[in-house]
Amino acid sequence: MSFVKLPESVVPCRNLVGGEWQLPREVALLDVRSPYTGTVIGRVPLTSAAGVALAVEAARPAAAQWRATSLRERTQVLFRFRALLERDLERLSNLAASEAGKTVAEARAGLLKGLEVCEFALSLQNLDSGAHLEVSKGVTCEFRREPLGIVAGVTPFNFPAMVPMWMFPIAVTLGNAFILKPSEKVPLTACALGELMLEAGYPPGVFSIVHGGKEAVDALVAHPEVQALAFVGSSAVARQVYAEGCKRGKRVLALGGAKNHLIVAPDADPELTAQAVVDSFTGCAGQRCMAGSVLLAVGDVEPLLEEVFRRAARIQVGPGMGAIIDRGSVDRLESAIARAAAEGARVALDGRGQRPDGDTWAGGHWLGPSILDGVRPEMEAARRELFGPVLSVIRVPTLSAALAVENASPYGNAASIFTTSGAVAQMVVEGVRAGMVGVNVGVPVPREPFSFGGTGESRFGHGDITGVSSLDFWTQLKKVTRKWSSRTDGSWMS
Ligand code: NAD
Repeated sequence: MSFVKLPESVVPCRNLVGGEWQLPREVALLDVRSPYTGTVIGRVPLTSAAGVALAVEAARPAAAQWRATSLRERTQVLFRFRALLERDLERLSNLAASEAGKTVAEARAGLLKGLEVCEFALSLQNLDSGAHLEVSKGVTCEFRREPLGIVAGVTPFNFPAMVPMWMFPIAVTLGNAFILKPSEKVPLTACALGELMLEAGYPPGVFSIVHGGKEAVDALVAHPEVQALAFVGSSAVARQVYAEGCKRGKRVLALGGAKNHLIVAPDADPELTAQAVVDSFTGCAGQRCMAGSVLLAVGDVEPLLEEVFRRAARIQVGPGMGAIIDRGSVDRLESAIARAAAEGARVALDGRGQRPDGDTWAGGHWLGPSILDGVRPEMEAARRELFGPVLSVIRVPTLSAALAVENASPYGNAASIFTTSGAVAQMVVEGVRAGMVGVNVGVPVPREPFSFGGTGESRFGHGDITGVSSLDFWTQLKKVTRKWSSRTDGSWMS
């Protein structure tokens, strides 16, 4: 049985610099392996600071010309890009699934979310008309939204298309030249997006790609011409990128990791809740920042928990749940399960050692859905982001106790309440620390134009990565006051 169509030959990834695909000189090449099989499906250059400087140099004239085009003109190119994405949806979904280990359906959903962000950016020409007011007789004030110039985005492995598309459709439509540094674990989808950006007709240098790891990121953060940097990845790196960028006076928004809480009240709808909980912690094999990670069972919810255990046990890795990104991550997750058991948790469902049938998948990286019951708030499984299909169940006597556990987490990405009571739901909406809240929804990703972003160690910086506040991140407002008449009325103050 085949769950995904891997590339037929090894894909050589190149940087996209000034509209040309280039292999930077004298750099190491890294193998890109599919989590499904462990086989090499691509090779990616680890760009040095000099390679990053070349991309910035090529983006410089593009940024100057692009800012001089009108919003309407820029929007027309994005319309074409959106159409190309739809045309190639299946090919891109397979590519993203091949390198990230997602199911094809999950990869497709990520692309569709990227399309939604494109649609938000496409609507700006009609919705973001600015403000203009006669502030005194004969005197007007207005603001103009102006691009920053060259900006950059650094993205993680788990959404090879969606997370880059949280950023560049908006940044580019607002008139910036954008440099993408995709995860070195999933560079193939980024290259495919780059090809479509060229085919859509973006002028050379408006959209660039530099591949690599820490050295490329550090060079983007340090480069004086990179005006703003959006980052999405683990909290440790997000914190460091944010601090380094701010030190240099840059605008930085850095989204980090997560530990999301699913609060289950005794009056929750059993059918809806059990399925939503299972989907939340097993979707994308738990490798998403919106995955449910801790189930806070309030009072007596035993039958519902049993149903969660039963449904999760029925999931087959391969067709029902994708692979883990690499061997190191499987080892890390298996050790975390073993440590939780040693600390006193009951392994209610053990996914260790599970793999799909057939030799094809023997070299892949697998872990079946796993549930740790009787976890206590101070244990590692309750506090640390594990980033895999592992659910920790903490039993609490009251809703207030559940909120106390959620509030004590240093993260603050998402939290959900499952209840049939409006009052209980409202108490949780108001009481949680998380930036994104679900009511009877296990993965409360806000749809556009409601923006995406958490709090605490899940987000360093101000504002959100999509939606209305992203407009302020990728632009600056120029305020203009005009007076055309010498006769002003008494309300004029200067
Ligand atoms: P990661 O932090 O290892 O890597 C993210 C990016 O940073 C990659 O492009 C990588 O090349 C680069 N990088 C890695 N180490 C670096 C270093 N020391 N200095 C500079 N750059 C470095 O994250 P990952 O493993 O690719 O992705 C998983 C993490 O991302 C999880 O923690 C997950 O919760 C988080 N994530 C968060 C969100 C969100 O919206 N908050 C969304 C998706 C993923």
